[in-house]
Amino acid sequence: MTDTPQPPPTHDLVGIGFGPSNVALAIGLREQRERAAADPATPPLSGTFLERQTEFGWHRGMLLDDATMQVSFLKDLVTTRNPASDFGFLSYLHAVGRLHDFINHKTLFPLRAEFHDYLAWCADRVGDQVHYGAEAVGVEPVRDEAGRIAGLDVLARTSDGALQRRRGRNVVFAPGLTPRLPEGARLSERVWHNEYLLQRLERLDESADPGSFVVVGAGQSAAECVEHLYRRFPRARVHAVFSRYGYSPSDDSPFANRIFDPEAVDDFYCASAETKADIMGYHRNTNYSVVDPDLIDTLYQAAYQDKVKGAERLRIHNTSRVTDVHEGPGGVTATVEDLASGKHTAVEADYLVYATGYTAADPRDLLGEVAEHVVSDAQGRPAVERDYRLATSDEVTCGIYLQGGTEHTHGISSSLLSNVAVRVGEILDAISARTATSAATAARPAEAAVFGR
Ligand code: NAP
Repeated sequence: MTDTPQPPPTHDLVGIGFGPSNVALAIGLREQRERAAADPATPPLSGTFLERQTEFGWHRGMLLDDATMQVSFLKDLVTTRNPASDFGFLSYLHAVGRLHDFINHKTLFPLRAEFHDYLAWCADRVGDQVHYGAEAVGVEPVRDEAGRIAGLDVLARTSDGALQRRRGRNVVFAPGLTPRLPEGARLSERVWHNEYLLQRLERLDESADPGSFVVVGAGQSAAECVEHLYRRFPRARVHAVFSRYGYSPSDDSPFANRIFDPEAVDDFYCASAETKADIMGYHRNTNYSVVDPDLIDTLYQAAYQDKVKGAERLRIHNTSRVTDVHEGPGGVTATVEDLASGKHTAVEADYLVYATGYTAADPRDLLGEVAEHVVSDAQGRPAVERDYRLATSDEVTCGIYLQGGTEHTHGISSSLLSNVAVRVGEILDAISARTATSAATAARPAEAAVFGR
């Protein structure tokens, strides 16, 4: 007689990714369990998280010296959901002994490096819930006695090549953003995406003295790269190539900023497709292809001082695009087309950096056969319910929730920090409600049979 393999333990939720969004969710879970411990009528929720990286890290390649956050520290991982939480940015400052120094600083926008340290402090405190070095590579359905998909097994490849299985009644996807490249572009030793800028620069020989860089793009990342390279390599020429006439300022005026409020998610979610497109069109410049006005001034000052000195170290190729990149042993040659005149110029550089933005992952890529049950909208994008659950056929009774990749349904703040605290509260409320409902119906015994509870 052979032993039947034991099913893995079942969690109320399995989180894929452990960036800020799922760290916030892990904090929400912990606070939910604390409430449940004090209230016997509230069943505690269990959760486990999988993270590809071997430790917490959030856009480490862009933790540039002077870069600051672009959202208020009050939009940390908890405050707008639970101002009394001890996971807020102020609790962090108190814990590290910098609260008074920060108050004297009179800013709402900490350094990115400092906020990263805050995020890592939070991640560390809920670290018992995460498996680092475990990359989710697939999802398999777990069916109940009626044949419905009542749970999911997430398969994860660990650093030593082993395959692990985590079972959940719900899965929360928060895989983050993937660097976007122009069509046909290839990354190499000399051609980078800004996502890995600092790691790439660290790899350069200490004696390296690059003579020139090309930076493609005109968003915040591109402008920060240009400024960093210009300052860090005082002898280098930096070519900024973008299709706009000039860098455009980000709109962070108070009325426009309301687009990031939790209420804006309701407004956007209910709007027609046409109104959604209008809202995105009007307010894209709160977030995309725009630059902090102070940084624009800094870059302009640098360009002007160059002119005064007669040495054009910062070379702006506006209304331009890179049409070809040729890589040789000593550097790259970028063909830059001036879109106004049609003239092509060969720009020689040691390195080229694409700061061309990011795209959200499509959860269906990981879902395997379960993806067939996901409802799509007219444009083939996944349909998402207001509580961030993927809309599925009735055959799926478990929950698949998204943090990110919901801009088409929930609006511009769906992949941003701005709304993370409230969003995880909504997801946890939805999971609690589903758990309570399934506990109260006949489905529970069947599910128990499958899940071995
Ligand atoms: P982004 O705002 O999407 O800007 C991408 C830039 O690349 C745009 O100028 C875009 O030009 C250009 N681009 C896109 N595809 C291209 C192509 N195929 N060929 C040439 N150019 C192309 O991306 P981002 O600057 O990385 O910013 C992303 C987010 O990160 C934003 O929310 C930003 O605020 C945030 N961020 C924050 C900080 C900070 O907190 N300090 C730092 C960096 C980034 P078009 O406009 O013509 O499309």
